[in-house]
Amino acid sequence: MSGCWRSGRDLRDGAEVGGPTVLALHCPRCGGPLSGLQQDVVFLCGGCQVPYEVAGGTFVERRGFIARALAQADRPILHLPVWTFRVNYASHWEDPEREALARQVPRVEWVYVTGFELHNASYFGDPGQIFTQRIVRLEAGAPAPLVGCTRTLEEAKAYVEPHLLMIIDRRVDVTGLELSCAIGEALLWGVPFFDEGDTLRDAILGLKIPAAAVDELGAIRAHGRTGR
Ligand SMILES: [Zn+2]
Repeated sequence: MSGCWRSGRDLRDGAEVGGPTVLALHCPRCGGPLSGLQQDVVFLCGGCQVPYEVAGGTFVERRGFIARALAQADRPILHLPVWTFRVNYASHWEDPEREALARQVPRVEWVYVTGFELHNASYFGDPGQIFTQRIVRLEAGAPAPLVGCTRTLEEAKAYVEPHLLMIIDRRVDVTGLELSCAIGEALLWGVPFFDEGDTLRDAILGLKIPAAAVDELGAIRAHGRTGR
């Protein structure tokens, strides 16, 4: 399988600059094509709907779903990758006042971490952070193309505690907080976004991100249209 990956790399290096560059790798289950863009680390098999992450020169199977749009709009839909992690955490302060305040903070069960490359996310608003805070529950929808995942599962995991801390800190000063967090199940979701040209608006909460802030959007759009 590492040979397969290397040949993918070769294709990638030899790809023409400018056009959408899509790799043709093969699904370990069905042999069908896996597609991904130049910087991607996860490749979805359209047939099996299984995402594979390249880790240590081999394909590692992940669990993933395309999320169902909750809003409707007469716009093309693109799906962008977002990791989710089931968390079980405990917070503790020595200060009883903070401890009491913390009991009012809504409990987060799933932490969302943006899997695609978004520039200035802290300025525009990071969808993963906002989905976590708003306690979004996604439901699986119909299969769809999904590319643009540049963050590995392990890289995404590193954002779980910072996301939780940021949410707690909105209600209670986190100074002196002891947070212990166990991370369970991990899923990769394709989150639907309406393509409005200059902006992308997610079909779950209706939040907007500027199209220019999404890396490789031209190639993501091309892949969304053709599935290749
Ligand atoms: Zn397959």
